[in-house]
Amino acid sequence: MSLSPQSTASIESPWSADEKTLVYECPTCGEETLRWVTEDVTLQDGKIAALLEHLACSSCGEKCFDVAAMKRIEGIRGKQPRRRSTIHVTASVKHA
Ligand SMILES: [Zn+2]
Repeated sequence: MSLSPQSTASIESPWSADEKTLVYECPTCGEETLRWVTEDVTLQDGKIAALLEHLACSSCGEKCFDVAAMKRIEGIRGKQPRRRSTIHVTASVKHA
């Protein structure tokens, strides 16, 4: 069995460093208390994304994830498949 290497490094956040220093309006509560934080995030299935950079609202607790954060979450979830195996065996060519 061989797993294809994952190029997670190619996924970059669309947010610039400057944008991450600003405070945004929370889409949930409307307060301007949504800001970038880097902290451990407990996912819905109980797994922990350590030091995940994401937008968090200090007013209502809403969390927002950009594509880079989502990619990390997908990677964390993918490490421990609990349901049926969904690994695709592609082109298992055997050389004689
Ligand atoms: Zn909020």
